[in-house]
Amino acid sequence: MNERSDTPQAHPHLGGNIRFCVVCGSPLTFRAWEEGDGTMQLCCAGASCNNVHFLDPKLAAGVIPTVDGKAVIVQRAHNPGKGLWTFPGGFVNRGEVVSTAAAREALEEAGIEVTVGPLLGVYSFPENPTVLIVYTGEVVKGKPRALAESIDVRLIGPEEIPYDDLAFDTTRAAFRDWHSWITKGKPPPGKDGNF
Ligand SMILES: [Zn+2]
Repeated sequence: MNERSDTPQAHPHLGGNIRFCVVCGSPLTFRAWEEGDGTMQLCCAGASCNNVHFLDPKLAAGVIPTVDGKAVIVQRAHNPGKGLWTFPGGFVNRGEVVSTAAAREALEEAGIEVTVGPLLGVYSFPENPTVLIVYTGEVVKGKPRALAESIDVRLIGPEEIPYDDLAFDTTRAAFRDWHSWITKGKPPPGKDGNF
């Protein structure tokens, strides 16, 4: 039996891998949530259960840390985006302060301690479950080096951003903003609350 074929209700951002209600174990149905706001949601098909399995966005945090005006970038060792470049970043754990997550990723991926801030921007795209919050930052301790999650680490100036070899759309958008900030003196959009 093809397990995917009996889940035509699969949420477009899900891949069909959450199929049962976490409350009662009945199958989930992807349908208009008529009891609520009418949006398409994974609703429990159980007779006496009104649970809706909301798929929240995935929150990621990143930091573009600089040393003498050059940004630390890392080459990803794992998919998605294996072999491509980005700045240190990753998913925020539940209960973790977002800026702390950004600093943690810089330490894990590039072996550097960073001060985080100000905010560079918030990046999201249609149909992409990930929302990325990116900070500027400064390296305060450690020499950037490739660790377990990275193949290589480089320092780049604003004219050396490898746009053709960046891992994600969100990475590209953030680097464009960083470039504008560094080269044109345009402040990070987050400073004015304008995203
Ligand atoms: Zn249920």
